[in-house]
Amino acid sequence: MAAATGLLGTDGQVRPTIFAEMSALANRTGALNLGQGFPDTDGPAQVARAAADAILAGHNQYPPGAGIPALLDAVAAHQRRCYGLELDPADQVLITTGATEAIAAAVMALVGPGDEVLTLEPFYDSYAAVIALAGAVHTTVALVPGPGGFRLDETALRAAVTDRTRLILLNSPHNPTGTVLTRAELTSIAAVAREHDLLVVTDEVYEHLTYGATHVPIATLPAMAERTLTVSSSGKSLSFTGWKIGWISGPATLVTAVRTVKQFLTYVSGAPFQPAVAGALVDPQVAAWVADLAASLSRRRDLLCEGLERAGFTVVVPQGTYFVLADAAPLGFDDGAALCRALPALAGVVGVPASAFTRSGSATDAALASWIRFTFVKQTQVLTDAVERLGRWATTGRAGGAP
Ligand SMILES: *Cc1c(COP(=O)(O)O)cnc(C)c1O
Repeated sequence: MAAATGLLGTDGQVRPTIFAEMSALANRTGALNLGQGFPDTDGPAQVARAAADAILAGHNQYPPGAGIPALLDAVAAHQRRCYGLELDPADQVLITTGATEAIAAAVMALVGPGDEVLTLEPFYDSYAAVIALAGAVHTTVALVPGPGGFRLDETALRAAVTDRTRLILLNSPHNPTGTVLTRAELTSIAAVAREHDLLVVTDEVYEHLTYGATHVPIATLPAMAERTLTVSSSGKSLSFTGWKIGWISGPATLVTAVRTVKQFLTYVSGAPFQPAVAGALVDPQVAAWVADLAASLSRRRDLLCEGLERAGFTVVVPQGTYFVLADAAPLGFDDGAALCRALPALAGVVGVPASAFTRSGSATDAALASWIRFTFVKQTQVLTDAVERLGRWATTGRAGGAP
């Protein structure tokens, strides 16, 4: 059964993800790790202090199944303040073990064998795995690179929907492209969802990490709140990715369905972190800290993008998230995965091939074969060093072309 989902290798061993493989390579070679997307600086000290205080104050046993009331209230207040979305914290919000569990539980709750789940492609790697675990069929619509970024084409979207499509699993701001879907793109998606009576699960973990572009939750579009589950998390916004406090919100019937699955995945988690995140979500000082983080990331984005371009990559400048996709084809490399395995030795830098986010054999897989994802959620000095190493490799070390 598990083997049939493709999650196990043929030898029955756990197959390491490309992220783990690349991080191990970085550790082994001392290369600068711009592969895995986790911050190398922690979130606000007062939020960390609140979690430490919560442990000492005895918040160490199972919290309520839906999450602690203060956090349910804080998520509802956040959605109202930021987007004008009205949610009843009593039955329209659920706290989860990161966005990852929210997405997994939602997919398992809403689809089964024979159903199709449509995602953008490239896509965050857990999507394909949970769709497979649910026994459903994964279909995709491409985000296509151009001068305006990686964009969604409405004709392609319509062509990707069939009478078996049940769910659109969306992600904006989008990892790995950095696309922030425009209101026009979201309006097309919403129209398709309404016409075909589809549910939408939207992964908005980078909602606060945008650079000039405005993040529009699809739940705010006309008649979409009733068919949309919105997912987010404290990991990316607060730079506490290890805390794994996420949430999902939407219509009570759908949230109840998700909770039914969630209670048999982890039941609950993060007792002392929940009050800390609850406080953070309603604290204007923390909101200012997050805005500063976005401003700082925007500068770090420019530093990395300009350096990659100087080294000879073609770069599509991201409008959100903390990733950039760069094409190595102009440098003479058509296999991004091979280049990623060689790059630590060649240049002392680690990235992740875009193929980690595509379905092998798809049109997007072919189109992005020579692309690499780099993260800029690293300290400025690390990015400066990485850019310098890549530049040196590109100008002096690349004689002969092939790795
Ligand atoms: C990091 C990430 C997640 C996982 O979030 P957690 O809260 O750590 O589970 C989900 N979706 C995307 C697009 C991400 O980049």
